[in-house]
Amino acid sequence: MATVVKKEKVKTLITRARIAKRIREMGKQIRKDFPKEPILLLGVLKGAVPFLADLARQIPGEVTFDFIAVSSYGKASHSSGQVKLNKDLDSSIEGKTVLVVEDILDTGLTLQYLLRILQQRKPKHLRIAVLLDKVERRIANVHADYVGFAIPNEFVVGFGLDFAERYRNLPHVGVLQLPCEG
Ligand code: 5GP
Repeated sequence: MATVVKKEKVKTLITRARIAKRIREMGKQIRKDFPKEPILLLGVLKGAVPFLADLARQIPGEVTFDFIAVSSYGKASHSSGQVKLNKDLDSSIEGKTVLVVEDILDTGLTLQYLLRILQQRKPKHLRIAVLLDKVERRIANVHADYVGFAIPNEFVVGFGLDFAERYRNLPHVGVLQLPCEG
């Protein structure tokens, strides 16, 4: 089923049922890997919010949240690799088991920057969970410990991912088709 806004179309790539099933599996795996530890979920605003909310409810035991916001410099279509910190965490992560939760891993430049600054703060463990992974786009040597779905190199929206701030509320992930693309 295609969702239509302003003549743009979103062709479903991953249904909400598949997302829910995969997030249940990821939650179980994360708790299995850290059986007794309190886990701090560190969400990257804004795209990670729906994924973090669902993932948190699938990890039994003690889980807390914090959020960080970053933006890239330069044109959106071009990855410059320069990242700016717009909102820092509220609390220290020293000695904690931290799981960075991100919507999508693309070039990897954003996470590379984030990991560098987070590592300096001496967490006990620093792991990465992403809902989507565009493997073929990778520039930085970054790999996620928990991946929901590997996807092809297409511009996707929904489940937190936006196009000009829209579509974040879609319950599924789809490929955005702009009118000029036919
Ligand atoms: P990276 O630094 O890995 O290239 O980019 C990560 C960020 O780029 C993501 O958090 C997301 O904001 C944005 N991004 C990358 N690919 C897509 C995509 O297909 N759709 C949307 N909506 N954003 C994307």
